[in-house]
Amino acid sequence: MRWKNKGHELDDIGARIASFSKVAIFCAGTKGIELLNVVHAHTNLEVVAFIDNDPKKQGSIVEGISVFSPSKWFNVPKKDTVMVVTVHNKDLQRVIIRQLEDDYGLKYNYDIFITHKFIPLYMWYKNEKLIAFNTIYSITQYCNLKCKNCNSFMQYIQNPKHMEVNKIKTDINLLFSTFDYMFILNLFGGETTLHPDLSEIIRYIHTNYKNRYDFLGIATNGFTKLSYELVDAIKSTNVVVNISNYAQYFPHDDERQKQFATFLQCLKDNKITHYVEGFSSYWFDYGFETVDRITASEEILQTVFDKCNMHCRLMQDGKYYNCAYDKLALNIGVHSQDSGFDLQNFDPKDKVSLLEYSLGYNTKGYVELCKICDGSGSQTRVTPAIQTERKPFPKRLE
Ligand code: SF4
Ligand code: SF4
Repeated sequence: MRWKNKGHELDDIGARIASFSKVAIFCAGTKGIELLNVVHAHTNLEVVAFIDNDPKKQGSIVEGISVFSPSKWFNVPKKDTVMVVTVHNKDLQRVIIRQLEDDYGLKYNYDIFITHKFIPLYMWYKNEKLIAFNTIYSITQYCNLKCKNCNSFMQYIQNPKHMEVNKIKTDINLLFSTFDYMFILNLFGGETTLHPDLSEIIRYIHTNYKNRYDFLGIATNGFTKLSYELVDAIKSTNVVVNISNYAQYFPHDDERQKQFATFLQCLKDNKITHYVEGFSSYWFDYGFETVDRITASEEILQTVFDKCNMHCRLMQDGKYYNCAYDKLALNIGVHSQDSGFDLQNFDPKDKVSLLEYSLGYNTKGYVELCKICDGSGSQTRVTPAIQTERKPFPKRLE
């Protein structure tokens, strides 16, 4: 969204969210339980129900809370209760919101919200706490794979480098001095475990900020061997390991299969919390080949940006970015338009503007990469994990 009334864009919706005292969570699975824990830990809201389309879950009790079908739940009108939809898959999220609108007459951003928006708005408009929901920090450009459609643009980096550890610490300090709380902070790459100072980085974040975040995670493809020192650091700091399961794309590569299995076993043996991201037959197109909006109007680009509704924020070089991929593209010279929110010269009076920015507002209403990127707002998909040689990004944006 383009800023039209900076600092007050979300006042109405924020006031409405702050007026609720009860919440019903759409999704009785892992994501729903995660949200339940966040609500219990950080708000005074009462969670009154889980709602789920899965008949196997309907009628059950999850974490002491009853699970209803939508039709049963909306049988009688609900007062003071807001519905928050929390599912990982964006396509499914859209389907659920449309179902609630069409079948039960609810309005998106009025009666129904999504987690990433609801929690930061509630926390600000109820408690004046500035929360970042999901922030990534890219610590390395090295990777042991060369995926053709990598969303971090690794395939175009000729001379990769690790981020220098003192620079990382400076950025992390800035992040925590600006935001009151991070729900999720994920270290990201490339392949994070290749960074020689990863143990030091996670110990630093944990030592200094352990009471200021819910989850500290690292992203990995699992084709790596964890050193004793790194296992110890991960265990002692309760870091969550998020594994993208690409092993399934290499079914005939015995060495990779063995490496992946050994990696998983190491996490299990050491009782390290980890999530294996399931098999996906597609990736989103972050600007690789199919999209050309180079001469598109501002209105079209703004529509693309809003529809994408990217939730993945990135911290780097003293700035906060509301589209991580736009910054990663800037880093490798795909374009030269820096859309980051400057945290180095941050004035605490601008907290609401930063909240708005983190929820998808900026000056132009889009970012430069939208000219060649489809993000998650369209049906364009590209093939995952095809291996390629590293080569320069074909010049498409000036
Ligand atoms: S594993 Fe593939 S998608 Fe992941 S960072 Fe490496 S090159 Fe990119
Ligand atoms: S369409 Fe692409 S560049 Fe634009 S916001 Fe979405 S991910 Fe970012």
